[in-house]
Amino acid sequence: MNKLIDRFGRVHDYLRISVTDRCNLRCVYCMPAEGMEFEPSENILRYEEIAEVVAAVAKMGVRKLRLTGGEPLVRKEIETLIAMLSGIPGIEDIALTTNAIFLAQKAEALKEAGVTRVNISLDSLKSERFAYITRGGSLKRVMDGLEAALRVGFAPVKLNVVLMQGQNDDEIEDFIRLSLDKPLQIRFIEYMPIGHNDEGWRAKYLSLDTVFEKVKQMGYTYEPAGDIYGNGPADNYRIPGAMGTFGLIHPVSDHFCGNCNRLRLTADGNIKPCLYWDDEWNVRPRIGDEKAIQDMFLRAIDAKPENHEMAQALASEKQSHTPTSRRMSQIGG
Ligand code: SAM
Ligand code: SF4
Repeated sequence: MNKLIDRFGRVHDYLRISVTDRCNLRCVYCMPAEGMEFEPSENILRYEEIAEVVAAVAKMGVRKLRLTGGEPLVRKEIETLIAMLSGIPGIEDIALTTNAIFLAQKAEALKEAGVTRVNISLDSLKSERFAYITRGGSLKRVMDGLEAALRVGFAPVKLNVVLMQGQNDDEIEDFIRLSLDKPLQIRFIEYMPIGHNDEGWRAKYLSLDTVFEKVKQMGYTYEPAGDIYGNGPADNYRIPGAMGTFGLIHPVSDHFCGNCNRLRLTADGNIKPCLYWDDEWNVRPRIGDEKAIQDMFLRAIDAKPENHEMAQALASEKQSHTPTSRRMSQIGG
């Protein structure tokens, strides 16, 4: 069977699956406070359908999966899906991105079902601020989830921190300190203009050079932390002697599209070859016919653009395609 290789020679072995567009939080950079329209449940891929798509693409070289959302842990008995996926020949790694609100109660079942690693999204270590950014989330529940993730032995446990000017950039030091005595990989992420037509994004966007400046101001030295499994596009560093690491994901200021190995599947069954553009191919009508599913993926991969143009968006320059109108919660990050 053909491998998933695009026009630029990039080999795709990684599928990110958004299992739901719903979420128990409403993070300010991801969803509006009100008025979000969700897909009716009959449009959402059932677990058997997701497993069928994964089985088809595993034969095309997909090895790694990441379940995301919306919030994947709000989908009923997600561990049933994970167990199905981990039994598919060729699938070697199943990761999860979560806001961790339900992680303390779910960690063990997820591990048993086959999740190997988790990314936890956490943008503030201050309770009130966390509640403000997430529009109501409980920091304590996330921290309990984080402890549970370390306890059951997910490796690595990563923290995703979206940096926003004037909102949490004064906490860079606190997050870095967390990497000193916990085996966490802190990943600072640039705020991306996904589904945002407003100017709010530009005003809050912060380039990640700031992180290095802060570490130096703290008086620490740092060294490259080497190649960490599952690290994707993060550059990783370690303060000598620290248990954990910190990394930077800078899609806007310096994109890493040249090494992109990922495809995305939305909860309603659309293949997205790039998170930024609106091009999508709906695989749902093909389910039941493995070859038709594979052909759809080949069509999507063949049309994958060379890169996203978030830097052009920052500079308000003309773009070559139409940016997606989906919110990040409908794509999965
Ligand atoms: N609900 C889960 C969570 O928050 O981890 C999974 C879905 S969420 C859409 C996936 C990731 O996208 C999270 O780490 C979140 O912080 C990130 N994200 C959402 N909107 C973003 C934006 N505009 N820019 C950068 N990252 C964003
Ligand atoms: Fe929900 Fe994750 Fe989006 Fe926050 S970032 S609103 S937790 S989907």
